[in-house]
Amino acid sequence: MNCNEIINKLRTTRNAEKDELVYLLDNITDDGREVLRRNAQEVAQEHFGNKIFIRGLIEISSFCKNDCLYCGIRRSNKNAVRYRLSREDILACCDKGYALGFCTFVLQGGEDSRFTDEMLCELIGEIKRRCPGCAITLSLGERSFDSLQKLYDAGADRYLLRHETAGKTHYEKLHPSEMSFDNRIGTLYKLKEIGYQTGAGFMVGSPYQTTENLADDLLFIKKLQPQMCGIGPFVPHKDTDFRDLEHGGLNLTLTLLSIIRLMNPDILLPATTALGTIDFRGRELGILHGANVVMPNLSPSDHRKDYALYDNKICTGEEAAECLNCLKGRMRSIGYEIVNSRGDYRQLNNKEK
Ligand code: SAH
Repeated sequence: MNCNEIINKLRTTRNAEKDELVYLLDNITDDGREVLRRNAQEVAQEHFGNKIFIRGLIEISSFCKNDCLYCGIRRSNKNAVRYRLSREDILACCDKGYALGFCTFVLQGGEDSRFTDEMLCELIGEIKRRCPGCAITLSLGERSFDSLQKLYDAGADRYLLRHETAGKTHYEKLHPSEMSFDNRIGTLYKLKEIGYQTGAGFMVGSPYQTTENLADDLLFIKKLQPQMCGIGPFVPHKDTDFRDLEHGGLNLTLTLLSIIRLMNPDILLPATTALGTIDFRGRELGILHGANVVMPNLSPSDHRKDYALYDNKICTGEEAAECLNCLKGRMRSIGYEIVNSRGDYRQLNNKEK
């Protein structure tokens, strides 16, 4: 099969064989990419129209017990400035976001044991009380199954945990030996079982990544069927051993966004900050390639630069309202509109499928 035939197959059957995905990723030309893009945009528009969901990102801690080799806040980075938002800081971010129209708050952070189940459960309850109708998304890394269940019972709706790479050998090249690929994948299945709207995802162009790894990532998403999928280019951080490597490619990231959209028509797919970091119009391009979510930053501006997972991260000098207005303008410039709804996952019914 040639590239156009594989794109056709993806559009009509929502699937492809691994060797077809590898072939497509390795051989797609600019013309092919435009065909793929148009198909992905059409599928996204069939499902979401020109509406873009927003999630308010609150980066609650830069302390992390893990040592992921690519990450700027890995525990062994002695240069990282560590901060932890207080309960009151976090609530103030939510209040501000709610007033701006946000209905989803994403609490993201390093794996910081000071955020105990007890205090997170209380916090989740309080956010729900102050911001009626909002959704709470957690992105706090791997916690015990018991902890994840407690947080869900306390009212958390969604959980983002990128699998990072579906290749076990590749995973082990990006993480220290005390971290376990099997636990990461097992946690993702557990999150779904508990009832969370679950987000998986991976970095594009991460060190040692092969096209086969990427094909495995696409097939893993198809198999896990998460409600959300976050992908963005790997961007080097100056305090890691990967400092001199190139960042992941723009075209490759856009191609993968489009393929994910075709394979998973109803998935919630963000145009990520990392994509906006490697290209001035990265997030707009992401939307035009099939994404339907953006995640403006609601973190307090005095801590933003310290949540540095990678170098040159955008939006670190702005206020929440500025970030939102900037994204509203960017979306309008390509004919899309940011909406204030919660933007829950809605499964296509069988007829639509
Ligand atoms: N600690 C939590 C969430 C924070 S990290 C967790 O482990 O899930 C959020 C995401 O940032 C990670 O999943 C990873 O995919 C991404 N990330 C980390 N370092 C990065 C880098 N150097 N370039 C691009 N993305 C990176």
